[in-house]
Amino acid sequence: MPTEGSSTPAAISLSGLSKHFGEVRAVDDLDLQIADGEFFSMLGPSGSGKTTVLRLIAGFEKPTAGTIVLGDRDVTDVPAYARDVNTVFQDYAIFPHMNVLQNVEYGLRVKKVRKTERRRRAEEALATVRLEGFADRRPHQLSGGQRQRVALARALVNRPRVLLLDEPLGALDLKLRREMQIELKQIQRDVGITFVFVTHDQEEALTMSDRIAVFNEGRIEQLAAPVELYEEPASAFVAGFVGTSNLIQGAVAQQLVGREGTFVVRPEKVSMVAASDAPPPGPDTCVAPGVVREVVYLGASTHSVVALDAGATLTVSHQNSDRSIEAALERREQRVVLTWRRDQLVSLGGAAAPGTSPMEETR
Ligand code: ADP
Ligand code: MG
Repeated sequence: MPTEGSSTPAAISLSGLSKHFGEVRAVDDLDLQIADGEFFSMLGPSGSGKTTVLRLIAGFEKPTAGTIVLGDRDVTDVPAYARDVNTVFQDYAIFPHMNVLQNVEYGLRVKKVRKTERRRRAEEALATVRLEGFADRRPHQLSGGQRQRVALARALVNRPRVLLLDEPLGALDLKLRREMQIELKQIQRDVGITFVFVTHDQEEALTMSDRIAVFNEGRIEQLAAPVELYEEPASAFVAGFVGTSNLIQGAVAQQLVGREGTFVVRPEKVSMVAASDAPPPGPDTCVAPGVVREVVYLGASTHSVVALDAGATLTVSHQNSDRSIEAALERREQRVVLTWRRDQLVSLGGAAAPGTSPMEETR
């Protein structure tokens, strides 16, 4: 992955970028640099400004303030068609009356590229997305995943410097989506084009990205690589949006952690034992008795929601490798003890995110 400080200029530099729609600050004074060849994701809830940022980069919207630089060219006032970017939308809108090859060639035809050259590049793009042999098919003869790949080929054939993707997998079912996530990442590695990928799905962002920007109300809450985002969330908002947050704060923190503050402990870092097997609390171990309120079976893993005597409610997850689900279900309404290593607590600076209960997050 290219890193900041390398000699290549950033593929995209946004400075002081804002877009207001009346009272709504869709994008609020954003500074962001995306490296050349990076798979960059913008993750956030609906309405947090992700699409607007993409449309500003593409040139479909004019910023209220700020600048957009692609490579070493300031494109803030350059119209969309003259920017070296392509966009793939969720409703990828391939032309139904054209076959696959014609769809992929379309952009080159508009640019008056010669026929033999056009054909060669379209076939190359189809090979890149693993659709050799589909050139003559009509869109209605393709599966959802194949249509998505045609849309991708249609963008790649232009060899843009940057490819913008707005929830392109949103319409696919879960299995296909997971397959396409892996494939899209491989394609991006093969072609080396900078991808800016918008999603509201944390798992999707974690799977594919070099770096992820978590958006909240037109601003970036945290910008980090997937591992750092999950293991060291910078705020309660990020902790709750990426994974299950398990917040410990206020008087509960004082009692369990021994100091003031807001802390997060991830569900897979917590062990649940019978009260009789509980270790003594120590300098390295937190110990918290409570009652199992809910057991949620998720196939590969099971989540238990435990109301602690100290006041907080924590979710514990364990892999269903050797323990049977019956044993977990029997614990419902039983007294248990949760333990975790103190160094697995992440200390947060910010205030708690409202409206995130552990039960909602087990889904
Ligand atoms: P996201 O893609 O993260 O769901 P958007 O960028 O689409 O978010 O929207 C951000 C905010 O800007 C939302 O509050 C949305 O309602 C508002 N918004 C987006 N486009 C327009 C528009 N053309 N006119 C008015 N408000 C808009
Ligand atoms: Mg959107």
